[in-house]
Amino acid sequence: MEFLRLAKREEVYLNYFTLFKPLGTEKVSIFEAFRRFVARDILSPEDVPPFPRSTVDGYALIAKDTFGASISSPSILRLVGEVKMAEEPHKKLESGEAMRIWTGGWLPEGADAVLMLENSSLNGELLEVYKPVAPGENILKIGDDVKKGEVIVKKGFPIRSQEMAILQTLGILEVEVHRRPRVIIIPTGNELAEPWQELRPGKIRESNSISILSLIKDYSEKVERHPIVPDDWQSIKSVIKRNLAAYDLLLLSGGSSKGVGDLVTSVIEDFEGGEIIYHGVSISPGKPTIFARIKEKPIIGLPGHPVSSFVATYLFALPLIKYLQGDLNFKPDHLGFLELGTDIPSKPGREEWIRVKREGNKLTPIYSESGVISSLVKADGLVRIPENVEGYHQGELVEFYPV
Ligand code: AMP
Ligand code: MG
Repeated sequence: MEFLRLAKREEVYLNYFTLFKPLGTEKVSIFEAFRRFVARDILSPEDVPPFPRSTVDGYALIAKDTFGASISSPSILRLVGEVKMAEEPHKKLESGEAMRIWTGGWLPEGADAVLMLENSSLNGELLEVYKPVAPGENILKIGDDVKKGEVIVKKGFPIRSQEMAILQTLGILEVEVHRRPRVIIIPTGNELAEPWQELRPGKIRESNSISILSLIKDYSEKVERHPIVPDDWQSIKSVIKRNLAAYDLLLLSGGSSKGVGDLVTSVIEDFEGGEIIYHGVSISPGKPTIFARIKEKPIIGLPGHPVSSFVATYLFALPLIKYLQGDLNFKPDHLGFLELGTDIPSKPGREEWIRVKREGNKLTPIYSESGVISSLVKADGLVRIPENVEGYHQGELVEFYPV
């Protein structure tokens, strides 16, 4: 049997938006929020800084009093005190006066700038100013950093280290984020042996599940691996049925092609609400990938060949896992453009993902069948050849996706 119509990769991504909904939300402590995606805009409850602050060690003063100051003709100000750290200044500054202040100290009322220590010298109570300062220089006014009511983190964006810092600055210790998916990986195939079993003739050790698992683990709430399921219609059906409720995403490995032993699509269609959205994608490797759902629940049928399984997980399963946790920027992204050390031919009509070795900024393709797992081990990344491009020449700059 042949694939009737192959879906384009971008088309599949677009359909994530229409077919699946991001998971529900939960409140988590900011300490648990790293790399989670916020479910609604987070607004600042207060101004930062909450009081005007000096950004240097020096003297708080009125900028106007320093205009025209120079080494040969310094402005002379009178030192009237010191602003202690973590204390509110007790005095309002008048024209002709200065107060000692430290980095982060509270700017006294009346002052509008801070002179850096090194541009002055102090003789008793008299401060000689050698350089003019502009109004606003070396200070942060109330709300200069963050204004009350300002959006700090936008819906659909992740909490990175810097967002964690600003949330803690604002005293926001809990955030609402999307749940991360619970995923089950179900390897299928009569020829597969569990890795700890003795290898009988004709069998191979199952290996896709562990590479799928390691690719998605950091993006999921939990990932379980089901024991190997034989290519048997009833067995596949009952495994899906038993696990449908407990997981947010089912990843089947193998049996996704159109051969006689490939049962995954027919099993899914047999469920009430079972629907095959796409069977076959216009990419190589990874063509025999299945996108399906049973009612609302997404299922991806990943190809059995180890390289295809890896590429399809990277291009489709991982983006779906990201989308389900509220990441609106879920598409795989390249690291930038690197130079090809040799030509890469490619047939137009399908987007190709070529394994490449990277040496410095030069890439060399690694060719082999999609069943050859060692080719992935030798690779440092993938290069994308768009559907309508007939290969690239040596020296051309190409998109490099590290894996
Ligand atoms: P399938 O997609 O089931 O037709 O499998 C295609 C090829 O991938 C066959 O040679 C399988 O033996 C191999 N294969 C399928 N599943 C796995 C797996 N979980 N681990 C390693 N190889 C697999
Ligand atoms: Mg199989």
